[in-house]
Amino acid sequence: MIKIDQYFDPAGWQKFTQAAKDRPTPFLVVDLSRIKIKYQEMVGLFPNAKIHYAMKASPAVEVINLLASLGSNFDCASVYELDRVLDCGVSPDRISYGNTIKKAEHVKYAFDKGIDLFATDSEADLKNIAQFAPGSRVFVRILVQGSETAEWPLSRKFGCHPDMAIDLLIQAKKLGLVPYGVSFHVGSQQKDVAAWDDAIAKVKYLFDWMKKEEDTKLQMINLGGGFPTNYISEVNPLQVYADEIKRYLSEDFDEDDMPEIILEPGRSLVGGSGVLVSEVVLISRKSHTDLTRWVYTDVGLFQGLIETLGEAIKYPVYTPKMETSVKEGTVVLAGPTCDSTDIMYEEAGYQLPEELEIGDKIYWLTTGAYTNSYSSVEFNGFPPLEVVYID
Ligand SMILES: *Cc1c(COP(=O)(O)O)cnc(C)c1O
Repeated sequence: MIKIDQYFDPAGWQKFTQAAKDRPTPFLVVDLSRIKIKYQEMVGLFPNAKIHYAMKASPAVEVINLLASLGSNFDCASVYELDRVLDCGVSPDRISYGNTIKKAEHVKYAFDKGIDLFATDSEADLKNIAQFAPGSRVFVRILVQGSETAEWPLSRKFGCHPDMAIDLLIQAKKLGLVPYGVSFHVGSQQKDVAAWDDAIAKVKYLFDWMKKEEDTKLQMINLGGGFPTNYISEVNPLQVYADEIKRYLSEDFDEDDMPEIILEPGRSLVGGSGVLVSEVVLISRKSHTDLTRWVYTDVGLFQGLIETLGEAIKYPVYTPKMETSVKEGTVVLAGPTCDSTDIMYEEAGYQLPEELEIGDKIYWLTTGAYTNSYSSVEFNGFPPLEVVYID
């Protein structure tokens, strides 16, 4: 059973419950002060890196304004995200365009707005950048391992083989672009710190090759995101990742010739800032002798819990009756819509108190990342997830 003090100190939890009081569910409460603490922790652990917040994890202006005021840079994946950050007053030199999949007209739009730092992983995209964002800095995203140990893998779709990355960097130079660096993403909610080691070794190979064969000095390594947050299974603190990654870097690169380092955290910065508050709509069993209860809540995959697809991300699920319950039993947790994929956990064996009743509150902890941005507009008429910001 979840103990709330594994996730929050009493004062921290009180803030959430206070904000949740007397408000019709469902909604997400986001405590901005927790994002601030995470950001400052990351800056402290990586003092020489530039942080480009991957804004898709939580793209609200409240979050952008906070991080902008703390000095963060931003990575955007579309012109729509770009407009949002620019509207918040962030200057274009603090923004990268990290999506390798983009229309030519969007490259032009971004360039016209002052963006000159682009990710790429294909020749067609590189040519668009050369044509519509002439002279820009480009970094090539490489394919890396890590899909087995990441709970939300990002491999396959993005990145290219290191040999192709070399060709793209050479071509970038020929096309009048600045071959600026190399990026990777080890997969989101990556628990295995060794995934960064493998990736950094590949980057090192690319840096050496470009220097030796092409007399071109690459300047930047983008280590991506992937740092985990606390769901039901414990993860190492960020400090462990930072120490190991800095060690890998210093093994592969000279201290006095260290490339610029960019980090693109999303989940790890904002995941712990959110609690999704829902209510039990229905409890039922599928037969008279069924031991498993089906618990339907007023949130599901379409109100922000899409990362439970395949039961990939396992959120801590808390209900106040856990404090006093004498017996708990296995449940299937499902959402309120008419879509049969709208089941959060069937195999995972979540346990909830036998005393649970219709109308009880269910708190989904650590739901600050990839929830409100993924919530659907009106599937079955359910409105998008409401968000309440506190600090
Ligand atoms: C989504 C994404 C990130 C953020 O990843 P997290 O695992 O949430 O930290 C960073 N960089 C790129 C290019 C991304 O697409």
